[in-house]
Amino acid sequence: MIDALAQALAELDAQGLKRRRRTLETPSRAHMLIEGRPVVAFCNNDYLGLAGHPELVNAARQATVEAGVGAGSAHLVAGHHKLHEQLERELADFVGMPDALLFSTGYMANIGAITALVGRGDAVFGDRLNHASLVDACLLSRAELTRYPHGDLDFLEAKLKASSAKTKLVVTDAVFSMDGDIAPLPELLALCERHDAWLLIDDAHGFGVLGEQGRGVLWHFPSLLTPHASRLIYMATLGKAAGVFGAFVAGHATLIEWLVNKARTYVYTTATPPLLAAAVSASLRLIAAEDWRRERLHALIAQLKAGMAGLPWTLMPSDTPIQPLIVGDNAAALRLAEGLRARGLMTPAIRPPTVPAGTARLRLSLSASHEPADIERLLAALQELA
Ligand code: PMP
Repeated sequence: MIDALAQALAELDAQGLKRRRRTLETPSRAHMLIEGRPVVAFCNNDYLGLAGHPELVNAARQATVEAGVGAGSAHLVAGHHKLHEQLERELADFVGMPDALLFSTGYMANIGAITALVGRGDAVFGDRLNHASLVDACLLSRAELTRYPHGDLDFLEAKLKASSAKTKLVVTDAVFSMDGDIAPLPELLALCERHDAWLLIDDAHGFGVLGEQGRGVLWHFPSLLTPHASRLIYMATLGKAAGVFGAFVAGHATLIEWLVNKARTYVYTTATPPLLAAAVSASLRLIAAEDWRRERLHALIAQLKAGMAGLPWTLMPSDTPIQPLIVGDNAAALRLAEGLRARGLMTPAIRPPTVPAGTARLRLSLSASHEPADIERLLAALQELA
């Protein structure tokens, strides 16, 4: 059996698809030390540069003294701390939803929410480029899954119309995690209204970045706000722009109460350490107050886009911090990433099955903690490698 695994791994390696970890010696930031060498990284999701902020660190430190390290048990047993309760209120208010529920991770939030809402005999519809956690959640739910071509609303509408399922649910990334584009959410919501379906929006990459004060994609498209709260399920993660860890689902109070009772990844897991809730509360205050972080991020995105003119690769159309540089071939993407790494620049080569075959890419992610000089260095290295 082990031999078969070794053989399969060797085959992955031969196709340029074997994955390896690198060990960091400093926190994962735009500027870090990996295997003894300083690098500029374009691969973490700390979009606002908050992950190491002293106010978050201090909030976590103080909460550790007051609440200890471990939550001790699941929320429904004896793990639901006042810091969790307070953060849930703050998150709901911040995104403009009636109520919110914390989950340990985004992966678990998607699995928990989707499997609590649909099951056998129901129908779930997902964009073909949705994040793996949404795909897995749909499969686990046992509802009939239709994956629609990326952004193809006509296809989706035909399938919604043809479905006689009791409960229908449409699920989508708000910002597609490997492409950086934004889903047409007002149009998706209109379809869901016409065909009486729930709409679950995964805003892992928009929360903190999009909309007024970084309140997320619901504020980027204000027509999505309150009157629709009863059919919207909003999910966002707290380990990306918020710089901490965890996730939450926000929506109608009845939906949240249902999830407290039925979301298995909520009920049957230990609550996240309260110290993380304290760090997220501190992060929320900075996200709301410090517009300069988003302004800086947008200036860096514009600098990168402008500097790509004349290079033999193109960036996918994206106005978010996810800026994918398309290479195509797996081995060529790896070679380009390797060439950049030799120049002290870390960029992740993303290959199938994470992205469709033939679209291997460098997924460049930018952060407010990058300097304009970092972008210049990346562009100069790409020029050399062209
Ligand atoms: N949804 C999307 C769109 C994501 O990109 C991610 C993280 N890569 C997740 C969900 C999962 O979030 P977490 O890392 O908190 O499990």
